[in-house]
Amino acid sequence: MSITNQDCIFCKIINNQIKSDIIYQDNRILVFKDINPEAPVHLLIIPKEHIKNISEINSSNSDIIKHIFEKISELAVNLNINKDGYRVITNCGKHGGQTVEHLHFHVLAGRQLQWPPG
Ligand code: AMP
Ligand code: ZN
Repeated sequence: MSITNQDCIFCKIINNQIKSDIIYQDNRILVFKDINPEAPVHLLIIPKEHIKNISEINSSNSDIIKHIFEKISELAVNLNINKDGYRVITNCGKHGGQTVEHLHFHVLAGRQLQWPPG
């Protein structure tokens, strides 16, 4: 059921046209390591369907968000980051600092993260 955007770097990762360090995948989502980690653990969770960002989420496709967050919770236990904690971020649009226009959730862990962001 994957809908691909040919110009999208994350769609290319999904379709194995670009290599990545994959942690987990199923028919709906892919989890891989960020190429430029900002913390000892820095994962990206993406839907296999090309959705631009959270602004494109609505009642017809929001099931994927449920699935992604259930998987994040499960992965956090498996990666042993749930006790010390972690941060989940999705950047949306220009002011949100989004650089890749395929919906993704960052999971950052393994050090004390600062707040607020810049
Ligand atoms: P954002 O700035 O929220 O759009 O996040 C995009 C993220 O994708 C950045 O943290 C990049 O380091 C990461 N990224 C870009 N290209 C790749 C790649 N080929 N493999 C893994 N991560 C990537
Ligand atoms: Zn895409």
